Amino acid sequence: MNTTEQKYAEMITLLKEVKCLGSIGAVLGWDERVMLPEHGAAYRAEQNSLLAKLVHEKFTSPRVGELIESLAGRWTDQPASEQAVNVREAKRAYDRETKLPSSLVVELSKTEVLAQQAWAEARKTNEFATFAPWLEKTLGLLRQKAACIAPDKPAYDVLLDQFEPDETAANLRTVFETLRAPLVELVGKIGACGRPAPLEILERTYPPDAQERFAKQAARAIGFDFAGGRLDVSLHPFSSGIAPGDTRITTRYDPNYFGDAFFGTLHECGHAMYSQGLPLEHFGTPRGDDVSLGIHESQSRMWENLVGRSRGFWTFFLPKAREAFPDALKGVNDQDWYRAVNDVRPSLIRTEADEATYNLHVLLRFEIEQDLLSGNLNVNDLPAAWNEKMKHDLGLTPPDDAHGCLQDIHWSGGAVGYFPTYTLGNLYAAQFFEQARKDVGDLDAMFARGEFAPLLAWLRKHIHTHGMTYTATQLVQRVTGTALSARPLLDHLNARAKDVYGV
Ligand code: ZN
Repeated sequence: MNTTEQKYAEMITLLKEVKCLGSIGAVLGWDERVMLPEHGAAYRAEQNSLLAKLVHEKFTSPRVGELIESLAGRWTDQPASEQAVNVREAKRAYDRETKLPSSLVVELSKTEVLAQQAWAEARKTNEFATFAPWLEKTLGLLRQKAACIAPDKPAYDVLLDQFEPDETAANLRTVFETLRAPLVELVGKIGACGRPAPLEILERTYPPDAQERFAKQAARAIGFDFAGGRLDVSLHPFSSGIAPGDTRITTRYDPNYFGDAFFGTLHECGHAMYSQGLPLEHFGTPRGDDVSLGIHESQSRMWENLVGRSRGFWTFFLPKAREAFPDALKGVNDQDWYRAVNDVRPSLIRTEADEATYNLHVLLRFEIEQDLLSGNLNVNDLPAAWNEKMKHDLGLTPPDDAHGCLQDIHWSGGAVGYFPTYTLGNLYAAQFFEQARKDVGDLDAMFARGEFAPLLAWLRKHIHTHGMTYTATQLVQRVTGTALSARPLLDHLNARAKDVYGV
């Protein structure tokens, strides 16, 4: 005899075992990017692929399917209950994993490896033609993938759903359209004001060991728990919520640039403090998991930009920075520093863009990838379409495709529908922060006293502790009382531009 309770308990046990295997994979992944000697890479690939196979087999076993099916109609009258959330999200993931024929899965993963090699080669030699046939092939497979998962839905929405569950392109287009014109106008006003930020201050000599001490000091102060985490060095910074009590972040130190490591660390701290704030007792089940990439990014962007570039933050940290970097900061006044860390100017590369222009880079990719997937844009016309949009929105023309449509790895790995989550992160961050200000009080004054705990406690209570109980759309409505909107981000960027540039 199998009661509902027994079936639910069995499902939870299986989900937690799947996550435990995944968590072992996360340790290997961290090791690969931080520690692994070069000659160990080949066997590591074997370890990874065996583990991925075990995870897939365990999760897609018929028994998991039976349990989910028999539990799917229960608890619908209590949609926010632990049981309802776990069954709903397990079903979503199970359907996604099992609807693809294994021949397509194999074809996709083989193509991914080869397309990424072709992309890396194309970027190095600046030959878009090397990558074009692989992008064409990838798009074809993604269309098949979307049709297998949900044939009745627009293909782009199906792909987007992997990263931002329940979000739609139509909704994003509406919100993003209200963002674009005011942003272009704001960036233009800043450029025309004739008072560029003194960026040279950030490009002086900043010894890496002093940068590391300062980054750790800031991470600890804002609430990253070093007893439950680490900060190490890797080529590409990342955050990994490996297990309860084990959340690791990385950064990289450029001796001649302050911004990269410091703001990168705040960014990864934001991701990590979200992982550290998830309910540990639910680890391994959706109730203890993060909502979406957009919500994750809202946490990183909030600490990096809304907190880390604020006046209050630097009122507290600049005296400490002067102690850490006495030579670089000699003769630098508070206002020049504040202006330098809030530089806004059009640039070609997304990952190096400031908090305002960044979204224009994302909007461009969002439009292009929809057109590529639908076939409205021919792959061979991608470079021209890219350059035209860059010129229109940012006033710049890339000198070559390496600085244009070949700069990001995403499409070569089949990640279509991923880019909008970056701007969603910025939008959610501003919307949450505005609400936190209403609920908690004068955050800037608190930051100036080095008090970051009230904001973190607010985030824990309203966002982290709920796991996947609410979708991103429901969460933002619940926390702020309104649907996703571009207004709070625009208000923030306009207020900061006024403060920094007087425009
Ligand atoms: Zn991030």
